[in-house]
Amino acid sequence: MSRGAALMFKRLRNDFQLSIITLMGIIGVLGITPYAAYRLTHGNFLVGIADSVIVLSTLFAVIYAWRTGDTEKPGLYLAGVFTISATLIAINLGVNGLFWIYPLILFNFFMVTPGKAIIATLLVLAGLVGHALWIPGSVFESHYQMVSFLVTNGMAGVLTFIFAYRTRTQRDQLQALTIQDPLTGAGNRRAMNEELKIAVSSRRRHGRSYGVLAMDLDHFKQINDQHGHQAGDQVLIDYVKLIKSSSRHEDRLFRFGGEEFLLLLPDTDLAGLEAAAQHLLHTVRDSLRGPGGPVTMSIGGAMLRAEEPWSHWLQRADQCLYQAKSAGRDRTIIDRPAVSDLAPSH
Ligand code: GH3
Ligand code: MG
Ligand code: MG
Repeated sequence: MSRGAALMFKRLRNDFQLSIITLMGIIGVLGITPYAAYRLTHGNFLVGIADSVIVLSTLFAVIYAWRTGDTEKPGLYLAGVFTISATLIAINLGVNGLFWIYPLILFNFFMVTPGKAIIATLLVLAGLVGHALWIPGSVFESHYQMVSFLVTNGMAGVLTFIFAYRTRTQRDQLQALTIQDPLTGAGNRRAMNEELKIAVSSRRRHGRSYGVLAMDLDHFKQINDQHGHQAGDQVLIDYVKLIKSSSRHEDRLFRFGGEEFLLLLPDTDLAGLEAAAQHLLHTVRDSLRGPGGPVTMSIGGAMLRAEEPWSHWLQRADQCLYQAKSAGRDRTIIDRPAVSDLAPSH
């Protein structure tokens, strides 16, 4: 298999939303193109052009999803196009067209959020019933049939809603668990490793600069020993809240050990990193209170060098942190840049 195809399969496997949009795109294009061709060659230009527009816009949505990685807008778009089409088909064909409404309901729950999908379902039912009442004898063959249709569709919609809602909540929770530390809500070690890798490749490709601050609470063991583990936990929770509110929105905080944290600062130069470290140090000293009084921290920082592996970068920050501890704690030490990094890059 070629490399391109292998990459495509990988994306399809990892991105459920993209794979379902692609599948529906293929089904939509293969299913509607013959109708479009038939209508156009038999002189029914209005329906033929409408079918062609659906085919082309479906193709467009699939390509857009592949190119941008955004599946939300194409999903919404496809749900809209297919909902309107299925409703018009049902109005035109009557009972034979009504069968399409059942898969349409399922389709919408795959494409958009459960709330939007149930609203789409209600709009379709209202549209069909409205039309049937407006022009008696259209769409349904009897009132009995209309009520049966409404009840069965309502059931399908509600049951699918419950299923989709539960699945979505569980998926979100699982996703959060895999990247978050459950106690503090900071990123976990796994997320940290991923983001450091991304930073290294982004520096190499786009020349973005990154700094990290390795931070460790001072004498934290004493808090646990004197006031209990729960008091220690509360200090960690307060600490993360404080750091998050005192750093920039784009900075990312990770917990990579018991009371050791890492702040990743994108688009930051050495002076910026030093200023951020000083600011955080003072904020914690002034505002973080444990059961026994103020809590302080020590910080070691390092800028990412060109062609440096992330583990080496982290190690340099950690060494500075160690020096800050040895020098008496409650201070920051930032690694000096290597000579090669100061040389102008031509
Ligand atoms: P130093 O100033 O040298 O950093 O001293 P320290 O006491 O903070 O250093 P040390 O790393 O020896 O102690 C860290 C303590 O953090 C030990 C451990 O009991 C505690 N700890 C680790 N994870 C947790 C946690 O999730 N909750 C609580 N309450 N304590 C934790
Ligand atoms: Mg400590
Ligand atoms: Mg420690």
